[in-house]
Amino acid sequence: MIISVNGGHTPTSAGASGYLDEVREDRIIKDCLIAELRARGHEVSDSTADDWMGYPQELNTQCQRANASDAELGVSIHLNAGGGTGVEVLHYPGTCEGLSADVSARLAAVLGLPDRGAKARSDLGWLNGTNMPAVLVEVCFVDSSADKEAYDAVSYQAIACAIADGLVGGGQAAPIAPPAPPASSGEVPAIYLQAKLADGTVLPATTWPDYAGWGGVPIAYLAAWCEWPLEVQAYTANGWLNSLTNPDDIENLGSGCVGDGTPMMGLKMYLTSPDSRHVVAYQVTIDGNCGYPEQRDHETSDGQDGYAGDLVTAITEVKARIEAY
Ligand SMILES: [Zn+2]
Repeated sequence: MIISVNGGHTPTSAGASGYLDEVREDRIIKDCLIAELRARGHEVSDSTADDWMGYPQELNTQCQRANASDAELGVSIHLNAGGGTGVEVLHYPGTCEGLSADVSARLAAVLGLPDRGAKARSDLGWLNGTNMPAVLVEVCFVDSSADKEAYDAVSYQAIACAIADGLVGGGQAAPIAPPAPPASSGEVPAIYLQAKLADGTVLPATTWPDYAGWGGVPIAYLAAWCEWPLEVQAYTANGWLNSLTNPDDIENLGSGCVGDGTPMMGLKMYLTSPDSRHVVAYQVTIDGNCGYPEQRDHETSDGQDGYAGDLVTAITEVKARIEAY
């Protein structure tokens, strides 16, 4: 099974703390859980948000990453707060109720804490924003000394195993095909893209085959960089703007990213590869259509027009990779 796992919150958008710190603990548990699920033969991706992300971006990012991974099951690890004691597992109404009850019961048994069971919630970003069946595990209460004592008495491995048992059953994983090798063999560097949208949202940096962009919102600024010189130029209502080489700081308007705050409608990239045998291949989505052919460098042969976009319609997504020719 393909499973996406994350630890809730970030240091920037901190979770609960008391006797235990939620973010510190949930990161350790999710790492152990990922290792345990992989050991049982599952394909697991980590959809944890980046440390610098605040609310609600951290939540959107978790969902975006889980959805992009084609996961068949999503799991977010949290610790609870608010004066209770014990384990509970949250799910969207009408899905995952049995699975949630099973995870909760197994985890409660291992911890020796009350089993608060499965709880249906329709107000949580993780459960609302994921395309796949998803659960949110509240391992124990950070503000209960009894919970901390019970938590400290068992290993992270035991906690991860109990959760995995509830999620996928003990060692009964269906065999899965190994993941496809990455498109680039490591000989060429990755191109990193990071977008700031017209609504002010700053997205996490992505690499091929992921795209920069979110929700059909026009891209206002774009950072794009790699280990080789990559020249980037944006077109807006103000025409073609100054080009930059490896703009790599989306918050540094003017020299760290291309764009002027208005919707970007055209994009040019040019790669100077050490062996002169590679180009940047890039592709944009406009009007929801991501099927436009790739543009390579500034080429105008093979039906290419030297840039991506139509210079009229806002660009909402950008992908880029290095290609040999
Ligand atoms: Zn939480």
